[in-house]
Amino acid sequence: MIWIGDVLVSQGEGAVYRERMLDGARVWDPYRSKLSALYYLGKGIELTPAMRVLYLGAANGTTVSHVADYVEVVYAVEFAPRPMQDLLEVCRRRRNIIPIMADAARPEQYAPLVESVDLLYQDVAQPDQAAIVLRNSVFLKPGGIIILMLKTRSVDVRKEPNEVFSDTLDLLTSAGLVMKESEWLAPFHADHAAIICIKPEA
Ligand code: SAM
Repeated sequence: MIWIGDVLVSQGEGAVYRERMLDGARVWDPYRSKLSALYYLGKGIELTPAMRVLYLGAANGTTVSHVADYVEVVYAVEFAPRPMQDLLEVCRRRRNIIPIMADAARPEQYAPLVESVDLLYQDVAQPDQAAIVLRNSVFLKPGGIIILMLKTRSVDVRKEPNEVFSDTLDLLTSAGLVMKESEWLAPFHADHAAIICIKPEA
């Protein structure tokens, strides 16, 4: 990842969401992006130029745009029309983002459009976040990485965040994924945890 001093940046055309520029690079704000927060907390995986990424919950493309600055291609899935309009504007200026308007819970809808990927990133803030990630893991290469941004309050507001977190881990590991690391995203994002898993080689 590219740091200028202690500031995380990505190299690409700016003015996507009024982000600051620093020495010609785009400042990647940890308060606006959970993935940036994860890097600030010392975790996360290195994004590299040959990587293909399937990104679920693209919203208006804030984090997608930074990821696209680092990797070969991002398949960006979003189901809400309003953020999709903004995302299309981001895609107009970045040729390596493929926008897909679809429900991430129904990957069969976009299966013909997506190649196998190295990284599956999910930030959909839904009650069935673990199930959605598992359904989409068919697109992940063996040895590929999953980053799940778990919003515990969207899964079950009556349960303690820690309980939701461990239930989610159980679901992922009992489906055969291997836990790599995890991190709570405070102070940047309250009650959110990043879970990083690996799809084992066959
Ligand atoms: N990842 C974005 C970023 O960092 O810039 C923020 C994502 S926002 C927390 C969650 C997004 O997921 C919303 O835009 C919402 O419309 C989308 N979403 C929720 N459920 C979805 C689903 N089942 N399929 C596709 N998109 C979904």
